[in-house]
Amino acid sequence: MQHADFNDSLLEFLSLSPTPWHAVRHMTRRLEAAGFTALDERDDWQLESGRGYYVVRNGSSLIAFQTGRADPLTSGVRMVGAHTDSPCLKVKPNPELRRKGYLQIGVEVYGGVLLNPWFDRDLSLAGRVTYRDKDGRIRDTLIDFRAPVAFIPSLAIHLDREANSNRTINAQTDLPPVLMQTGEDDGTTFDQVIRSRVGQEHPESQVDRILGYELNFYDSQPPAVVGLSGDFIASARLDNLLSCHIGLQALVDTSGDQPALLVCNDHEEVGSVSAEGAQGPFLSSVLDRWCGAGNRARVMARSMMVSADNAHGVHPNFIDRHDENHGPLLNQGPVIKVNHNQRYATNSRSASLYRHISEKSGLPSQTFVVRSDMGCGSTIGPVTAGNLGVTTLDIGVPQWGMHSIREVVGVHDGHILYQGLRNFMQWEDVVCLAAE
Ligand code: ZN
Repeated sequence: MQHADFNDSLLEFLSLSPTPWHAVRHMTRRLEAAGFTALDERDDWQLESGRGYYVVRNGSSLIAFQTGRADPLTSGVRMVGAHTDSPCLKVKPNPELRRKGYLQIGVEVYGGVLLNPWFDRDLSLAGRVTYRDKDGRIRDTLIDFRAPVAFIPSLAIHLDREANSNRTINAQTDLPPVLMQTGEDDGTTFDQVIRSRVGQEHPESQVDRILGYELNFYDSQPPAVVGLSGDFIASARLDNLLSCHIGLQALVDTSGDQPALLVCNDHEEVGSVSAEGAQGPFLSSVLDRWCGAGNRARVMARSMMVSADNAHGVHPNFIDRHDENHGPLLNQGPVIKVNHNQRYATNSRSASLYRHISEKSGLPSQTFVVRSDMGCGSTIGPVTAGNLGVTTLDIGVPQWGMHSIREVVGVHDGHILYQGLRNFMQWEDVVCLAAE
């Protein structure tokens, strides 16, 4: 896929994917359009060689794979991993707060949210709703208000003179977004708001009662190309929907000769322990059913995983937050992430393998290691490597403002990593060094 098309389809994906469920739904549509076949975990699978398949768990994690024309026992599986979730504010189960005639919504902080940028944004609301229909069946569906339906106003500087020098944010008391002004007698409930939205988006739904939901607020401002020369992309959830987009497009565009797989897990931002998270059994279960349960160790010994997750580009106002020799620049290529304490799973073999692919493809790459006096983030790389015993590389597009409500990447890096991962997935003999 060409650079302009790649970025156009990225912007579309970002704006249609305010939650992991929406992201997975969008990815399955793209896989269907590319001829991939849906598999259901409850069924018996009859897989054919040279075909594409995908499986969804909980609606929020996805595995897609090309069985290839080679046997996984002799060629291994080239795997790319990413995550579908992003830090955000999730609606509490009993969310209504009524103060001074305003209806506000109690929120739980999901993951490591950078809270400051959530103030004074035009917020919308989206997620999954589970309901009982008029026939007594329990169903779930996705909703997305798309319009700006809520707001967290800043406190005026006159009422907090230390706002610029000494501001702290209390997640319990400072964050509840204002949904509407109700007046004294208006008994509008959040349940009614959700029920009416389900009815609008899904007129056929026949809701008897809303039984549960997982909803989050998000910034309604659409993604944009920014900068005088259009050097950057600004959007929510670039960490890590950008890597989902890269991995999906790479898998779809491979020759299909080599066994190759993409896993996009939910719950990375909160430690990956869940039925559909990277610490859960989703990937190992799919590999067992594809390659044969007794064969997994042999297949993994010939395989390699690339965990794609965004990296910290050096911020020009805060240059000293990076090691002086390891400050990745935007638009200078994806970043190989190294941490010998295994917060990243990269080793010298997996890093070298990517550098080899990258050089042979005429693509740039960079390398990151955190300052020795600072803590390091992590990805699904180490947990997947630990679970499967597979050689793993941690790599990602450099970005600014990680976990902000609006993050920034370079316009070129996503497409560069896409080309590198596509070649990783389709070149012959590419994983032999890493597997020995
Ligand atoms: Zn991430």
